[in-house]
Amino acid sequence: MNNSILSTNRSIEQKVNLLEFEERGVKVYVKRDDRIHPFISGNKWRKLKYNYASFLNSGCKGIVTFGGAYSNHIIATAAFCAENKIKCVGIIRGEEPKVLNPVLILAKLWGMELQFASWNEYGQKDLLVEPWLNQGYYSIPEGGDNNDGSRGCSELLDELTLEYDHIFCASGTGCTIAGIVKGVNLLKLKTHCHSIPVLKQGEFISDRIHEEAPTAKNFTVHTTFHCGGYAKTTPELFRFINYLAKETGILTDPIYTAKVFYALIDLVKDGYFNKGETILVIHTGGLTGLLSEKMLSAVQNSIK
Ligand SMILES: *Cc1c(COP(=O)(O)O)cnc(C)c1O
Repeated sequence: MNNSILSTNRSIEQKVNLLEFEERGVKVYVKRDDRIHPFISGNKWRKLKYNYASFLNSGCKGIVTFGGAYSNHIIATAAFCAENKIKCVGIIRGEEPKVLNPVLILAKLWGMELQFASWNEYGQKDLLVEPWLNQGYYSIPEGGDNNDGSRGCSELLDELTLEYDHIFCASGTGCTIAGIVKGVNLLKLKTHCHSIPVLKQGEFISDRIHEEAPTAKNFTVHTTFHCGGYAKTTPELFRFINYLAKETGILTDPIYTAKVFYALIDLVKDGYFNKGETILVIHTGGLTGLLSEKMLSAVQNSIK
């Protein structure tokens, strides 16, 4: 791709200096995919890359995709399509609200056509998407979760300057960690991969990984760090977001990236790692997750 916005140059590996890591003798780094683009951030950019290539190959006239009202994939797709002059439609889960949230306002500002679908309707995506397919639109699944998506994520491994003992990533669908495991195995690295599902019953992430890397054994899915479920939070999680921001300058979102850093520190304190080991956390972006009224007021309470 020759479009200048589509570059991962800004995603550096950065040492995370925290007392907890120093005390246990582990070296922690963060891959700053959140810096790729302010809104086409992190893994959402990587997942769009080959979906975009497939769209171009298809000769379709626009893109239709799906997501919740705060979806990082929706806002990424809206920004990406605007920058590339592609017509796009976002089918949004839930009834149309009287007042749009900041994510949907931005999506609209970038020209995405929003179509709201009740939770019931949203369960039948095939029916919702059919009229758009008939009009010549190309459909990208919710979250960019398909083989093209994980292919883009696996390229993250080619960019790394160190060989890490461990790589950590937050998981929703598992597409990103599946790509990372695939990338590790393609390069024959000795890295062990760790998924932190942000929703309950995250065991299915193993199956998603095996879809992309059928024989992979070099991964662990840690299913106990979801803080109560998808988009569920605890006051402790917000205190942690505050602590990490103050101590390192790294901003995390309460839905995904705070949970992965929190899990890592917990495991470090538990003595999960050997002294001298190196660990990489993927900062998958998604900072707009902080922008709902609910999340902002929780942030405010944590810094009182
Ligand atoms: C979508 C998203 C994830 C989850 O990625 P999956 O590929 O669905 O597992 C993780 N972090 C952020 C910030 C996201 O927006």
